Amino acid sequence: MLPTHELFEKLPDVEQDVRQVEELPSPIERALVALVIPVLDTPTACAVAKRTAKAMRRPMNRAKLDAFLGDLPRRLTRSPVLATVRRFLGWWADSEPPAEELLASRISPEELAARSGLKAPVCARVVLFTGSGPLLPLDPPIARVCIRHGWLDWPMSEPQPWIPLEGLDRKVCLHLYFGMRSISRSHCKARSPLCDTCTLRPLLPETGPCEPEVAM
Ligand code: SF4
Repeated sequence: MLPTHELFEKLPDVEQDVRQVEELPSPIERALVALVIPVLDTPTACAVAKRTAKAMRRPMNRAKLDAFLGDLPRRLTRSPVLATVRRFLGWWADSEPPAEELLASRISPEELAARSGLKAPVCARVVLFTGSGPLLPLDPPIARVCIRHGWLDWPMSEPQPWIPLEGLDRKVCLHLYFGMRSISRSHCKARSPLCDTCTLRPLLPETGPCEPEVAM
């Protein structure tokens, strides 16, 4: 089980990332950040989300949409994430009931995946970022930290794209998400975790990190 309070205290300060997402005024912007955050830093992800949401308010045919998407940062246009953005925008434009209404209604990641055609881990991030439900998406860097600490079984009996965090508000969940991403990049590297200098070291099992042959 995830020790959320201890984790919250020991993770790096990610207040700025959380604030930037919280300040986005609309669900479509927060959902777009959730889509692109695996390949962009938070300020760039927020800027891309604002620009894209603004563009989507104009009538756009396929050619215009292609031109717009092609003009986004190269780290995004060269990544498979761009196809996810395109699929999401198509769903957002055509969804019935409206996507905004669905996201305001505590939709589950499973239901969002079924309606939008997006993959479950992506939907878990959208649900977190739009405030539809309290959870921790298990992106590979976050799953790696959880497995090494014994908070997730490995191998998993079935794929688990998120951990429910009932009772926590979105801001706390976002802190956990950004904080674990940050610690994963700085210390919990795929091949060799730098536990000696990591703030999460006191939360390790007595026997040390569980090594799941995880280079996830
Ligand atoms: S203490 Fe080690 S296993 Fe835990 S997050 Fe830090 S680097 Fe990873």
